[in-house]
Amino acid sequence: MPETLSHFIAGRHERGRTARLSDVYDPATGEVTARVALAEEEDVALAVAAARGAFPAWAETPPIRRARVLFRFLELMNVRRDDLARAITREHGKVFADAQGEVSRAIDVIEFACGIPQLLKGDYTDQVATGIDNWTFRQPLGVVAGVTPFNFPCMVPAWMFPIAIACGNTFVLKPSPIDPSPSLLMAELWREAGLPEGVFNVVQGDKIAVDALLAHPEVAAISFVGSTPIANAIYETGARHGKRVQALGGAKNHMVVLPDADLDQAVDALIGSAYGSAGERCMAISVAVLVGDVADRILPALAKRTLALRVGPGLEAGVEMGPIVTRAALERITGYIEEGIRAGARLVVDGRGHRVPGHEGGFWLGGTLFDHVTPDMRIYREEIFGPVLCCVRVPDFPSAVDLVNRHEYANGVACFTRDGGLAREFARRIQVGMVGINVPIPVPMAWHGFGGWKRSLFGDMHAYGEEGVRFYTRQKSVMQRWPDALSTGADFAMPLAR
Ligand code: NAD
Repeated sequence: MPETLSHFIAGRHERGRTARLSDVYDPATGEVTARVALAEEEDVALAVAAARGAFPAWAETPPIRRARVLFRFLELMNVRRDDLARAITREHGKVFADAQGEVSRAIDVIEFACGIPQLLKGDYTDQVATGIDNWTFRQPLGVVAGVTPFNFPCMVPAWMFPIAIACGNTFVLKPSPIDPSPSLLMAELWREAGLPEGVFNVVQGDKIAVDALLAHPEVAAISFVGSTPIANAIYETGARHGKRVQALGGAKNHMVVLPDADLDQAVDALIGSAYGSAGERCMAISVAVLVGDVADRILPALAKRTLALRVGPGLEAGVEMGPIVTRAALERITGYIEEGIRAGARLVVDGRGHRVPGHEGGFWLGGTLFDHVTPDMRIYREEIFGPVLCCVRVPDFPSAVDLVNRHEYANGVACFTRDGGLAREFARRIQVGMVGINVPIPVPMAWHGFGGWKRSLFGDMHAYGEEGVRFYTRQKSVMQRWPDALSTGADFAMPLAR
């Protein structure tokens, strides 16, 4: 019998009350490696109660002492980086080096959160009126929850909880049931780091757990990362329940290649960013916008490199692309390839039917390349979330900018050129949250914050960085006068500086 993975509540692994279990697969073999418990409302209530109970003492703990726990957690994350990466590869499928990179980017955010005493420093104005001072500072919200997607089971939760916890909140994480192990390993590391029980909790589950978090009166804020329809629903429902919500959604990231670009560099960038992690990244490039004569110059090399991709189990040396995460995802992506052919796009490289000897049960798909894709096609409009690159041909720079700006998604975008003036123009005119100039996947560093525009993000604040600190705290303003200061008597008009 495969092991059953469960919740982590108040510093302990909890089996929970549910009878509902979901299979966890190794996508490289297609075999069930574990089962994960799916929480019922009562399990969520237990986790929130644990977090609520831990909140007053944790919020009172001075930020520098909270930071010391974070430093110990950081140390342990570094020590266990490869164990976490292996757990990611086993359940998600991405190649080991990519999984190590994911853990490193999670560690970046923890390092940022270690600076919390500096980040929480308030503002102070002496003498706003005679004998009166005014200052502002930020206080934690209470219990906050994170709902995260399958594609970064370590990094995306770590966009949220290090900052939320550093700010003095307590946290309930609801990871994806597709790859639940990294969340439990991180919970154990928190315990080892000395985090008080109940400050970090994990409930495994599906919509039932998410709905319970959304409706729970003790949950003050929800951070969500996942697909756009769910992000939209979470934002609306959370707001209706009076919660602060940030909900990051799906993407369709374009990479514009101008005729003056270094085309070898552009091909490397397209191959890595379209097929890395099997295209299952919210910042993956899924559309190449080829300007002028670029398509004819670039396509032979792109096709050759797509065909030459080394696809196989993520833990094997030399593999560049792992399997698709689930059979259902594989079928969805294959459906899109069929749809692209029906719509009249030219299938240059067909990844369907890819076989990996010795791993016949795995969820395999090779890199897939379409040319002559047009904006009316579903493969252009919708997020495929797989290793399928769509090439769209446009005549000039203004039509490239216009194409990108008309798309409903606006997470990331890249422009490849040697022309500094055009690059600057591109960065300023493009209606997208994260821009790369000759950088295909411009995921901002931990202190800059991550977020798309339009239907790629619902809410006001981006994830992590100083926006994260603002999201997980609220500002309080204090106006102070001591009784021995100058008295002005009863004042019936708006107070003014005197
Ligand atoms: P998903 O939307 O299916 O699931 C995300 C989370 O929501 C999971 O925890 C899941 O259990 C939960 N969930 C699923 N259906 C739900 C429902 N009906 N009600 C409430 N909760 C529900 O996304 P996924 O397939 O796990 O991840 C891939 C998606 O995430 C892609 O669309 C990708 O672009 C997006 N993503 C976005 C970002 C970003 O920063 N914008 C980052 C990573 C992934």
